[in-house]
Amino acid sequence: MAGNGNAWPKTDAILLTNLATMGVDWSIIARAIGKTVGQCKAKWERVKYYDAPQPEIIYTERRCLACGSSFQSEWIGNRVCKTCKTSW
Ligand SMILES: [Zn+2]
Repeated sequence: MAGNGNAWPKTDAILLTNLATMGVDWSIIARAIGKTVGQCKAKWERVKYYDAPQPEIIYTERRCLACGSSFQSEWIGNRVCKTCKTSW
């Protein structure tokens, strides 16, 4: 790991996620973590998509293993479209 000044220990990233999710003021978050408001906001823009405790379901187009048509799958293990599921 590169040890530059912008490094975010996992614990700080978790703290940021918790505080930002609760809607705590950015100036308070920045003081709690010991970074600037700008650094905290920039980090949050990244972690909220990848490290958030309860990530949103992101639908991805996948090909159905049964009929071969593409459909919106909410996770990688879902490989059969709704039409085929209900017909089984
Ligand atoms: Zn299908």
